[in-house]
Amino acid sequence: MAIEFDTIAAISTPPGEGGIGIVRISGDEALDIADRVYQLGKKTLKNQKTHTIHYGHIVNPKTEEQIDEVMVTIMKAPKTYTREDIVEINTHGGVLAVNQVLQTVLHNGARLAEPGEFTKRAFLNGRIDLSQAEAVMDVIRAKTDKAMHMAVTQLDGNLSRLIRNLRQEILNTLAQVEVNIDYPEYDDVEEMTSQLLVEKAKQVKEQVKELLETASQGKILREGLATAIIGRPNVGKSSLLNVLIKEEKAIVTEIAGTTRDVVEEYVSVKGVPLRLIDTAGIRETEDIVERIGVERSRKALAEADLILLVFNQNEPLTEEDKLLIQATDEHHRIIILNKMDLENHLDLEELKKLVNPESIIPTSIVTQDGLNDLEAKIADLFFSGKTGERDATYVSNIRHIALLNEAVDAFDDVIEGIETGMPVDLVQIDMTRAWDLLGEITGDSVQDELITQLFSQFCLGK
Ligand code: GDP
Ligand code: ZN
Repeated sequence: MAIEFDTIAAISTPPGEGGIGIVRISGDEALDIADRVYQLGKKTLKNQKTHTIHYGHIVNPKTEEQIDEVMVTIMKAPKTYTREDIVEINTHGGVLAVNQVLQTVLHNGARLAEPGEFTKRAFLNGRIDLSQAEAVMDVIRAKTDKAMHMAVTQLDGNLSRLIRNLRQEILNTLAQVEVNIDYPEYDDVEEMTSQLLVEKAKQVKEQVKELLETASQGKILREGLATAIIGRPNVGKSSLLNVLIKEEKAIVTEIAGTTRDVVEEYVSVKGVPLRLIDTAGIRETEDIVERIGVERSRKALAEADLILLVFNQNEPLTEEDKLLIQATDEHHRIIILNKMDLENHLDLEELKKLVNPESIIPTSIVTQDGLNDLEAKIADLFFSGKTGERDATYVSNIRHIALLNEAVDAFDDVIEGIETGMPVDLVQIDMTRAWDLLGEITGDSVQDELITQLFSQFCLGK
């Protein structure tokens, strides 16, 4: 049963994009309101079958003025996104028409939806849980396929399932503890109960920690692996950049910087999103090191998750090359031995002593040789051999990460409590706290205020 709500409406397509737009209406009165503004002879939408599409016009019922030619989708509860009746009006006439249709709908009984309110209803009506709702938000923001896939997996409820299992284990243990306390028939019951609590706390804590280890990957999936292409002038940095961008159909975002235009470019390499940093620098001055000096470039490199260090194997290693090797020693690094189509003048044995030989990838941008190897290397580095394991559960949401960390603390309190001989009923409180914290991830124990705050982060119309 859906909880009673008023009927809400909003534009659910992104602002300003494309020629069509969708006005979404959800609630008990969705069909009545739609019928007030919809016109096609004597047809009424309310009598139509659910999940059908209807051609017609949106008309202002007071002035009889025709606003737009539309396709209207009707979806009756409960098999809808919000579990309420939903009407979606597909308009054709561009931004202005979409807005007019929305205004007309609002004048005829609907209330403008708050950001995220459709998804909030889906949650409140029990259609999705909180981590799924947050995944919707991530889908909206996802920048690359991989990030999208991760969000969608979460939407399927992977994380929720895992968390629910962990909570069930804790609950079983707590129940067992309860039984032991109520029936202290044996002398060693206190001892047994403590043992049980500590073992379960350790075991579940390990699983939570494993989940947390995926968090940094999750963050990178969403924000892109900060990648710097560096090397002496003329080794082929710009060429490499262009190849990556062309081959991989880069998503280019221009961010108007405060002092100058910073261009950030996203490329997806075998599903790994790279955020190429300081590419504007590479393009403008051809050389980040020359431009800002080794000391300062070191600082710029500090924010990089991955360094692509390019050498020209047509020339011997120089002092500058060696400085760059030193400066990037602590980083995840791939050594690109470029211009393989030209004669070899670089002492490979010398280079192998300075860097991990496994990290060296010979390439030629002219003949395209080695570019596949480079991409495979990037993917390998990122997934540490786990490429292709696409259905692993990742944690990427900051709120989830915080809750998991707090749960780890609670488990530590349980373990420490038992080890320092605290009474079992006090330790039980910490175990229950862990159970609560995990429940906040799925929304199984969550306060109203938190829900409101979360859903207000959504885009309007979702
Ligand atoms: P950057 O200064 O490091 O950005 O180097 P560029 O990408 O501007 O390349 C410098 C020159 O090297 C250009 O003329 C490129 O066409 C050339 N170049 C880049 N990669 C290769 C390669 O693999 N083989 C050959 N023969 N020339 C290359
Ligand atoms: Zn260049």
